[in-house]
Amino acid sequence: MYNLIEFFKEFYGESFIRDYRRISPIETRRFIVQSPKVLIRLLNGEYIYSNHYMSVNSREERNSTTSKAMDRLFMDFDTDDQCLKDIKNKIVDIQMKKPHNILQEEQELIHQYQDILIEDKVAETPINEAKRVAKLIYDTFGVYPILVFSGAKGCHLYIPYNPVLLNFPNKTIELICNDYTSRFNLTTLDPAPSRDANARISRIPYTRHPISGMYAVLFGIEDDYTTIMEKSVNPVVEPFKMQNHMTDFDKYLPEIDMHVSKMKELEKQQRDLQNYRRRLRNQRKCNRRVNIGIKGRYRVPDCRDLAQDILGVPEADYEDYITYKCPFHSDKHPSMSVYNENFFCGVSGCVGALNYWNFLKKYYNMADAEVRDYLIDNYPEN
Ligand SMILES: [Zn+2]
Repeated sequence: MYNLIEFFKEFYGESFIRDYRRISPIETRRFIVQSPKVLIRLLNGEYIYSNHYMSVNSREERNSTTSKAMDRLFMDFDTDDQCLKDIKNKIVDIQMKKPHNILQEEQELIHQYQDILIEDKVAETPINEAKRVAKLIYDTFGVYPILVFSGAKGCHLYIPYNPVLLNFPNKTIELICNDYTSRFNLTTLDPAPSRDANARISRIPYTRHPISGMYAVLFGIEDDYTTIMEKSVNPVVEPFKMQNHMTDFDKYLPEIDMHVSKMKELEKQQRDLQNYRRRLRNQRKCNRRVNIGIKGRYRVPDCRDLAQDILGVPEADYEDYITYKCPFHSDKHPSMSVYNENFFCGVSGCVGALNYWNFLKKYYNMADAEVRDYLIDNYPEN
């Protein structure tokens, strides 16, 4: 008979180190696993999730996203059913208190959960949405991706390809998932695993779901809901060949990754340009300041410089003025505009216009002599 070790060798491969997590209501533990045999020893039928990233180097790099090669794209379709959630919370509560006892009450709740899942078909939408994406993959690559019913309220889809290192794996995967979501109007594709590589963990096939008591099982595009549920209740490890699902997605991913890095480069250029413009403006301000002249032993500061020195980075920076949330009233919007000559808050009952002197006086609650000292210290005459 086809066994689990054979399946894991095909499904996870033999040549890569993978990062596995054991998640239970009591604790979360992480394991690095290098061989399917070790995985079998760890399994014990429950609680282990896996990360589909492959760490190509070392244990230390497991939290990094860019140093890991990926060999599959993982999508998680998940329904949000309140009834199931309530039962789940009750079961977790029982498991927290008596982790190793199977109580009568827990058994009843598990049966309730299964009934909702099987009779009310609450996992139908995620399964159907995963199938729609699977058909698109078939039309594009000529093979079906791997479909796995999670054993609870969700469905997983894996698109395997030859391992590839990406510079921006998170953003790249997010772009692809967003594209599928908008193309198919998907309502159950969970965005979290698509955004964060380390959140991208998935249940190991043929393990028992701790809440439903049902198993994560592979199914085919032609399987109907009832068939999938039957497989999940009475799992049989079926012969599996990764080769039958292999796509050449790895040829396209670097292109999308390159597109992402160009986007990032463009964003950086825009930031640089903004900084350059700001520096230019600041230079002009300096020149103006010399023309304004000198009072006593300090320079009259440009209010925008004063604002940036005291209030920090502005909310917005325009050609002639910058804006802040007004420090003189409880302000949710940036109501304060700061020009060369003054600070202005137009909110009724607030300060109105303040020049540099009155701003300092009011902001620090200083006497005139103190304001003068402050200016001499901070804006000394050249
Ligand atoms: Zn104000």
